[in-house]
Amino acid sequence: MSRAWLIGAGPGDAELITVKAMRALAQADVVLVDDLVNPEILDMARADAQIVHVGKRGGSASTPQDEIIATMLAHLGAGRSVARLKGGDPFVFGRGGEELLALRAAGIQVEIVSGITAGIAAPATLGIPVTHRGMAQGAIFVTGHSAGEQEPDWRALAATGLTLVIYMGMRRLDDIVDALLRAEMPAATPCAAIESATLPGQRQTLASLEALPAEVRRMGLGSPAILVIGSVAALASYTQAAAAPGRSLAVGIGCRRGVTVEQIEAAVLPALAPHTMADVACVATLDSKADEPGLVAFCERHRLRLTTFSAKEVQECFARDSSGSSGSSGSSLRGSEVVQEWAGVPGVCEPCALLASPGGTLVRGKRATDAVTVAIAASSAEHGTHRALPRVQV
Ligand code: SAH
Repeated sequence: MSRAWLIGAGPGDAELITVKAMRALAQADVVLVDDLVNPEILDMARADAQIVHVGKRGGSASTPQDEIIATMLAHLGAGRSVARLKGGDPFVFGRGGEELLALRAAGIQVEIVSGITAGIAAPATLGIPVTHRGMAQGAIFVTGHSAGEQEPDWRALAATGLTLVIYMGMRRLDDIVDALLRAEMPAATPCAAIESATLPGQRQTLASLEALPAEVRRMGLGSPAILVIGSVAALASYTQAAAAPGRSLAVGIGCRRGVTVEQIEAAVLPALAPHTMADVACVATLDSKADEPGLVAFCERHRLRLTTFSAKEVQECFARDSSGSSGSSGSSLRGSEVVQEWAGVPGVCEPCALLASPGGTLVRGKRATDAVTVAIAASSAEHGTHRALPRVQV
């Protein structure tokens, strides 16, 4: 008996297809394939299978949906088994639902084979979980393609505080970012744009919401790409070895006793923008804060080393740099806004950032919130695609 399958091919990497999909492909007489499907996956079809390309890219016009259905019905009617192969998951922005309904209406039973969708796999390549306990209680998959009446309600989406995973968003990136900023999503919200995820040509950038369009343009990123908007994007540093060479920033932190990890994050992430935690090599503070639970939890969450310095080292660094003499940073701390005292040491965050970044410069002077002070230093050796933060006057 002829069979009909609606199959997800996964996000790109041929190894991310399911065993069930492979088995179906090995049986089908005819395979109708979309263009986002990795051609390597077609090697899993029977050698004598008929392959029909129905995609939209590669210069050729896409096959109208009803023509695809008619082709499938014709083959099925002739007793041939048909596999309809789509990128990612067939039911996520893949029009799989429409094909299913049309086939059902013609009395055909369709077997659905789920695939790994790009919206989960693309962030995962950078170690970004789309949900994360304490950070994002959920994720929203949304198309950035639609305008006019079909336009998603960006204000409502921004208000959820959940991770936004945007498919087909590159062409309208400026409009989307504008809409989210107008909806009062913080300009410093961490974001990732990931092109050709899981394929050898994968490229990506991490930036704040505000900086994302310029960063995407600078790198010339295009479709197919997934945009991830939300604090989970700051976790990109977790597991992605490729991001490591770009880490050139040291975050100096002064904090009150009992500070929470949320208070530290609320101070550090905006101070870092347009960079993200992926650019941070280490966190530095005073010896006396080495066991401060909030700080330790912050470093664990971002898998960062906590480097500590004695009060003496901090005082010496402060004195050296404040005097404008031969400070290693070359940047003077003199005139720094009101010097607050933490644990009896003046200006903890700036000296700690500098001490943790030998030969580096202070690129973000002290920023203070109620419980936390933050300063950022960059090592002089910049790697990869990461650029220095704009130099600030301190
Ligand atoms: N059904 C597919 C989505 C099809 S819509 C799925 O579940 O993944 C096409 C969009 O998917 C692209 O514009 C892009 O936003 C995203 N996409 C698909 N493959 C991708 C890849 N390898 N890398 C990044 N984005 C991808």
